[in-house]
Amino acid sequence: MVLADWGNQISSALAAMSNSTIINEETINHLLKEVGNALSRADVSMSLIIKMRKNIQAQIKLDQMAAGLNKRRIIRKVVFDELIKLLDPGVTPWKPTKGKSNIIMFVGLQGAGKTTSVTKLAHFYKRKGWNTAMVCADTFRAGAFAQLQHNATKAKIPFYGSESEKDPVAAAKKGVEIFRKEGAEIIIVDTSGRHKQESELFKEMSEIETVIQPDNVIFVMDSSIGQAAYDQAMAFKTSVKVGSVIITKMDGNSKGGGAISAVAATQSPIIFIGSGEHIPDLEIFNPTSFVSKLLG
Ligand code: GDP
Repeated sequence: MVLADWGNQISSALAAMSNSTIINEETINHLLKEVGNALSRADVSMSLIIKMRKNIQAQIKLDQMAAGLNKRRIIRKVVFDELIKLLDPGVTPWKPTKGKSNIIMFVGLQGAGKTTSVTKLAHFYKRKGWNTAMVCADTFRAGAFAQLQHNATKAKIPFYGSESEKDPVAAAKKGVEIFRKEGAEIIIVDTSGRHKQESELFKEMSEIETVIQPDNVIFVMDSSIGQAAYDQAMAFKTSVKVGSVIITKMDGNSKGGGAISAVAATQSPIIFIGSGEHIPDLEIFNPTSFVSKLLG
């Protein structure tokens, strides 16, 4: 079920509620069941769905609603707000500070879209007038260095990496040191991913974090990974201080529910979504407009 489909299912359920002649417990239960089904088909975890249903039920007290109140509108608003809450941890997103070197560390599994998103974010800041640089600390994947170097050249962004350096911690340290000395305001460090969650990867991330002391750690997640999203996000969150999330490949046949799980696991805001393979395909994420768009 792709993003638009589960949005449509929730919209239809809300429309059915709005059009029903009477609003009673049965109407509400039916609505909640439909909303729950839609979220479940979008790969949102069952525990989150149950929590959301309870939150909605707690706010809709039909017996306490005075006659004449627009119950339908109130119910719609409660459902809408709860959907937004699923995507909004209520944390102000990190922002870089002028006059210093802001270090941003990227983490995520291989294939998530990390290297692509590093370039997209560097391009974003460069366009806004920040003096930006990128560092390749992925010494694990053959070709990672060449990929980031290629992107850097294309986006005309200074880049540090070494094909001969086999120690990712040393590469990250050196790159950050060089650009700090040069007075770069934004230094984005790309790290290795590996194919699956494994202790070596998390040890490496934690070591890099200790050495470069990032101002923000961005967790990158592929939006199409489904039910695995929560555990994956949690694994990164427990290894490093994840502060923001980027969800990639929202342009494809993504269900989008993984985004909700990533927020729940990391308690961090989604700052951008990736909407294509090209450098400008990065959109600022806003939970309210996302839900509005979702519900059409
Ligand atoms: P990494 O291993 O996490 O560094 O992943 P890459 O940045 O190399 O991306 C893996 C693949 O996903 C590449 O083919 C990218 O072009 C593609 N990709 C990354 N972000 C997006 C996105 O937002 N949309 C689409 N359609 N493809 C993306």
